[in-house]
Amino acid sequence: MHPNTPSLKSFIPVDPSSDFPIQNLPFGIFSTRQSPELRVGVAIGDWVLDLAQLEKIGLLTPGNESVFNQPALNDFIALGQSVWRSTRAQISLLLREDHARLRDDASLRTSALIPMHEAIMHLPIAVSGYTDFYSSKEHATNVGSMFRDPANALLPNWLHLPVGYNGRASSVVVSGTDIRRPLGQVKPPSAEQPHFAACAKLDFELETAFIVGANTALGEQVSVNHAEDLMFGMVLLNDWSARDIQQWEYVPLGPFNAKTFATSISPWVVTMEALEPFRLPGPTQEPEPLPYLRQSGDHSFDIQLSVELHTAECEQTTTICNTNYRAMYWSMAQQLAHHTISGCNVRVGDLMASGTISGTQPDSFGSLLELSWNGQRPVTLIDGQTKRSFLEDGDVVTLRGACVGAHYRCGFGTVSGRVLPALTRG
Ligand code: CA
Repeated sequence: MHPNTPSLKSFIPVDPSSDFPIQNLPFGIFSTRQSPELRVGVAIGDWVLDLAQLEKIGLLTPGNESVFNQPALNDFIALGQSVWRSTRAQISLLLREDHARLRDDASLRTSALIPMHEAIMHLPIAVSGYTDFYSSKEHATNVGSMFRDPANALLPNWLHLPVGYNGRASSVVVSGTDIRRPLGQVKPPSAEQPHFAACAKLDFELETAFIVGANTALGEQVSVNHAEDLMFGMVLLNDWSARDIQQWEYVPLGPFNAKTFATSISPWVVTMEALEPFRLPGPTQEPEPLPYLRQSGDHSFDIQLSVELHTAECEQTTTICNTNYRAMYWSMAQQLAHHTISGCNVRVGDLMASGTISGTQPDSFGSLLELSWNGQRPVTLIDGQTKRSFLEDGDVVTLRGACVGAHYRCGFGTVSGRVLPALTRG
C-alpha cells in the first residue's frame, strides 16, 4: 500500500491532533542526552524512529555507505527521489499495525523508538545555499504600499518573474535557537545622518522553504515541469528581519544585514511525497508568464499556517496571524526554474524560501510590519492590553503549519525563537 493511504494505521498510537501520523513520516536530525551523536530520525506520533539504528542492523539500507548515522540529511537526500520514496515506503511498512517485524520485537522497539520529548533536534540539513523569494502578491503589495507608493505598490517586474535574493546559509538555525537583536546602521526618515543602534523594528516573516535534493551542473537549466522532482521536502521558516536597518540599506541591491543575522527553520522535513494529497491549483497568473515559467496542473499546496506570539507581560499566547500557503502567486517549481534559467547550479541542501506568506485579510499578514502597518496600528494581544508594533526582548515567536485533510493531518510541527537583548559594544 502507498504510504499516503488514508486508512493506514501504525501500531504506535497517534492522536488525531498530532502532526505526525503514519501518512507523514518527516525526516530530521536528533540526538539524546544518553546518545549524543547526531543521527537521522523519522517522527511518528510522540516518538522518533531512529533510522541509524535500523540501518545498523540492516533493516534499512538505502545506500552503500551509512547515510543515517550522519549529522545531516544531505547524504540520504543525495541518493535521489526513487530512494526517498522506496525508503519512506519501507519505514511506513515497519510502522504499520499489521506488520510484525518492529511491532513484535520488544528489544528493537526499545532501541529504535525514542520518546519525542527526549529527542534534541538539530538543523536537519547542512545548508548549502539559501535563497529567499518574494512570491506572495499580498505581501509584496503591502510592503510596496508602505515603503514606496500605494498606487504603484508592485514594481513592474513582479508579475513577470519570481523576485528573489541570495541570503546567508551560515546563519540558518534550527527551531529553539535564541535570536540576538542585531545592531546596525539606521537612518529614520526625519534624521539628517545615519547612526549606529540596536534594531528598534525587529520582525518575523512567516515563510515555508523547500530543500533541493539534487546537484545540477553549472549551465544546466531545470525545466519548470521537472523542477518538483528535484525537491526533497519542505520546512517552516522564520526570516527574522530588522526593518529599520532594511529600510536604510536595501537600495539598490536589496536586503543585506537586515536579514543575515538569523533565519530559523523547523526541524522536521516533510517530504514532497507526503504533501502530494494536499496539492491545489495556484492563483491565475495574468499576464501569462514567459514560456520557461509556464506550467500545467496543480502546483500549490493547502498548508494552513499560523503565528503565535508570547510575551512576558501577557501570560497567554496570542495567535496573531492565520493564513495559507495556497495563495502564493509563484509556485516552488517556477522559483527553481527561474533560479536556474541563467545557468546557476543548485546543490543538495540548498534552502529556497517562499517569501513572507500573507493573505488578503488584515489578520492573515505574515509579518508584524504588515500586521501593525509599520507601527501605525499596534497589534493588541489576548489580554486586551499588551500591544506590539515590533518584537521586544524576551518575546517568543512560534510558527505552525499543517495540511488538514478529511482523514488525517500532515503537519510540520513548529519553528520557534526567543528574542535576546542586543549586545552593547564594549
Ligand atoms: Ca523573507
